[in-house]
Amino acid sequence: MLARRAAEAHDLSPTQLRVLVRLHAGPPPPARTSALARELDVTDPTVSDALQALRRKGLVERERDPDDRRHYRLHLTADGRRTARAVSRWTAPVEAATSRIDRPDGEQLLAALLDVLERMHSEHLISVTRACTTCHHFEPAVRRARPAVHRCTFFDHRLGPSDIRVDCPEHVTHEEFARRAATGGR
Ligand code: SF4
Repeated sequence: MLARRAAEAHDLSPTQLRVLVRLHAGPPPPARTSALARELDVTDPTVSDALQALRRKGLVERERDPDDRRHYRLHLTADGRRTARAVSRWTAPVEAATSRIDRPDGEQLLAALLDVLERMHSEHLISVTRACTTCHHFEPAVRRARPAVHRCTFFDHRLGPSDIRVDCPEHVTHEEFARRAATGGR
């Protein structure tokens, strides 16, 4: 509802808002139509339509990818950056509400939400997650250990309940890790 209101206030569709916000946040994923479609769990034509509208509005531009001339790279115009900054704050009322939850309850809520996210990802209801709990580098705490201290083998770092990341650029799924290992990291 909040996202829809923010989109309407800037004459955007909800998908246009999501594309703008994602381009504004930067990689991963790469700024390409198919990567954005996977990220947003929509079809390629849906993202293409949204991008066409955003280009008409002067918020997004595209240029040939110098590394692969078959593809285009997308980027925000100055107007696009301004609009993306404004609509990115659609989450602010939720953040204000959840900031009043005390820390132990907040950590419990985060753990429960991460559990739901992990299950939805394993059921293929969500295509992309970058949370520690779905990452190859995540070593969960010993069962029933309190406090639960996990470990990230990539950063070689302890992860307390509040350190769990939900959008980590170094995240790699078990499948991706196995594929990279099989192809020598390509
Ligand atoms: S690489 Fe990132 S997502 Fe993976 S366990 Fe470490 S901090 Fe978490």
